[in-house]
Amino acid sequence: MAENIYDEIEIEDMTYDPALEIYHYPCPCGDRFEIGIADLRDGEYIAVCPSCSLMIRVVYEIDSLPLLEQLPNKVAEDTAAEVAAAEP
Ligand SMILES: [Zn+2]
Repeated sequence: MAENIYDEIEIEDMTYDPALEIYHYPCPCGDRFEIGIADLRDGEYIAVCPSCSLMIRVVYEIDSLPLLEQLPNKVAEDTAAEVAAAEP
């Protein structure tokens, strides 16, 4: 998975497109690297340029992703925590 990694980019340095729900970052080929926020939530961290297939590793904290409170996973975690807390 590491063969074509061009660089490591902090997610703060990427641009978020709320319409497409992707982060993107300029690629040296003139296109851009893209990664969907859903992929980031799934733990994916490789953004790919569709034109030249170069890749970057996105450096991010999963807790700092926007709208995390709306995630099904987070809801499930909270529910699990409540269930655990309710047990004797
Ligand atoms: Zn490219």
